[in-house]
Formats: sequence, C-alpha cells, structure tokens
Amino acid sequence: MSRRPDFLRPLVLSGPSGVGKSTLLKRLFAEFPDKFGFSVSHTTRNPRPGEVNGTQYHFVTAQRFKDLIDENAFIEHAEFSGNFYGTSFETVRQVQEQGRRCILDIEAQGVRQIKNTNLNPVYLFISPPDMASLRARLQQRGTETESSVQKRLATALKEIEYAKEPNVHDLVIVNDDLDRAYELFKKVAQGEVIVGDKLPALDG
Ligand code: ADP
Ligand code: 5GP
Repeated sequence: MSRRPDFLRPLVLSGPSGVGKSTLLKRLFAEFPDKFGFSVSHTTRNPRPGEVNGTQYHFVTAQRFKDLIDENAFIEHAEFSGNFYGTSFETVRQVQEQGRRCILDIEAQGVRQIKNTNLNPVYLFISPPDMASLRARLQQRGTETESSVQKRLATALKEIEYAKEPNVHDLVIVNDDLDRAYELFKKVAQGEVIVGDKLPALDG
C-alpha cells in the first residue's frame, strides 16, 4: 500500500493530562506494532505502577536531566506539574532511522518550542468533551493525589487557552467516545487527511 502524504512527518500529540493520549497511543501501537515509533521522553517524575524505564519514559534524576540540558541533548524540554520532561534528539533519530512514523506526546510549552525547530510535524490536539469528564478521568486513573489532580486541571485550562489560538494545531480530535476518537486518530496517524472535530467551548 502506498504511503499517505503526511505519513513520514512526525506527529505531535498534545492535550491536557488525563484526556486519553496514552490510551489512544496504546491502542495504536497494539494494532500496528511495526508502523509507528513512540518518542520516549526523559522525565524526572517517578514511574507509575506498570511503567517500565525506557518504554513510557526514560526516568532520570534531576541532576541527570540538568546535565542533558547542558549537553544540548533535547529538542525541547519543559517543567510540568513539578517535574521535568524532555524530548531528546537521539530518541527521535532512532525512531526515524527505523523508517517508522515518530509520535511525540508532549505538553504545550514543548509544542511552542517544536514550532521553532525544523521537525515539521503534524500537530494534533486531543480535547476532552468537557472539563467535568477530564476531572473524572484524572481521578479515576488513580495515579494522582488530589493536589496533583488540581495542579493538572489548572494547567489544562492554560493548555486549552493555547489550543484556542489560531494555527496552533492542524487538527483536533475530541475524545468523547473512545472507539470513535480512536478511529479518527488511526486515520491521522496513518497520514490520512481528515476533517477533525471542532474544539468544544470548555469554559467550565
Ligand atoms: P493522558 O495520557 O492523556 O494523561 P490517559 O490515557 O492516561 O490520559 O487516560 C486517563 C484516564 O481516562 C484513564 O483511566 C483512561 O482509561 C481513561 N479514558 C481514556 N479515554 C477515555 C474515554 N474516551 N472515555 C472515558 N475514559 C477514558
Ligand atoms: P504524565 O506525567 O501524565 O506522563 O505527563 C504529563 C505531561 O507531560 C503530559 O501532558 C505529556 O504530554 C507531557 N510530556 C511527556 N513527555 C514530554 C516531553 O518530552 N516534553 C514535554 N514538553 N512534555 C512532555
């Protein structure tokens, strides 16, 4: 099968914490084990139960993260909810060398920085249907303390404000019904040009 025009451009996935980015990605990698490569970021946060070093993240100390910044190892990096996260040049290079489409899962400060590089990705924003669902998902995931949920929700409002600015994202998918959202996400990941969803008002 011939490849769609956008297939070899990296795909930058962003959207508030708890919206379902990892869930969509997990499905995609399970359905297409050889087509896509996840850009495994470095982070200073602690692993959640079930997370494996080198798979979801490279888990590093704050000192190691600082050293990597000094070595100019990162395409972009940011502080999010009290921890540091960064995408290394090396991780993206490795994925691209394998001929796979590289998918990045990053927050808004990282998106801003990527826009000043020559990566030339497709920018996809995953939106919650409303703020109450986002809160419920963050709580139901069971990985955050109440104060961490609050922090992430406050940051979510800023990320949504940024997403509302013109030309920030190429496409929006609302993760309301997971199966519906996944079908759209799968098409975008495969490089199909689709009409996305409209960003909901998300004003409270
Ligand atoms: P993110 O990676 O964006 O932080 P996750 O993928 O960890 O978010 O999802 C957060 C929680 O929401 C998880 O418990 C997940 O099972 C749940 N979830 C994901 N998508 C949906 C959906 N469409 N409807 C209801 N719950 C969902
Ligand atoms: P979590 O702690 O829930 O895994 O991730 C928190 C936030 O950090 C999410 O919005 C995720 O997209 C973002 N993130 C993960 N890796 C990176 C990265 O390398 N750079 C940036 N800027 N954000 C990242």
